[in-house]
Amino acid sequence: MSGEKTVIKKLPEYIDKISEEALSMIDRLTAETGLPIYMDPKTGAPMWLDVRELRLRYTLPVKSIVEFFEALRNGVMKTTKCKECGTIYFPPQIDCPKCRVRNMEWIEVEKEGELVTWTVINTKPLTFSYHNDYVVGIVRMPQGFNILAWVRTTDPRKLAPGAKMRLKIGRREDENYISYWFEPVE
Ligand SMILES: [Zn+2]
Repeated sequence: MSGEKTVIKKLPEYIDKISEEALSMIDRLTAETGLPIYMDPKTGAPMWLDVRELRLRYTLPVKSIVEFFEALRNGVMKTTKCKECGTIYFPPQIDCPKCRVRNMEWIEVEKEGELVTWTVINTKPLTFSYHNDYVVGIVRMPQGFNILAWVRTTDPRKLAPGAKMRLKIGRREDENYISYWFEPVE
């Protein structure tokens, strides 16, 4: 293991830097004009600039779907299927809203599906702001449900509806945790 900090460790410093830049701008504005108001470059409308930072720390209970994460760790994706009506749920859920019962079995998700739609994300949420532009897509699986996930491709312009997509499971670069994504089948 290298001594390099993971992106997750580096993220607070990165967010601090962005905050710092906004705070400097407020300082400059108030020094020059007495108020933290600037003219929006697009509309010319006066805008009040402020920085209020909200940090969230949360935990999610995953006990009921721990099998999903255990399977991912072993390179397999699993989800739940209602034993009463046969509906498959993804992400897995433990109760069937149709039957109003808890009677699920775990099934293995197939490895390939077809791209339904996708979008290139260039305005990223703060926690993904260190990523290059990325593609998020919806893939229809042959078992009859959709998976929303990142699509890794060297050229998003080559994506097309109905394109064959392969499900990949592994450690995500940057965050270093196990996740899943799709790649076009060459
Ligand atoms: Zn059901």
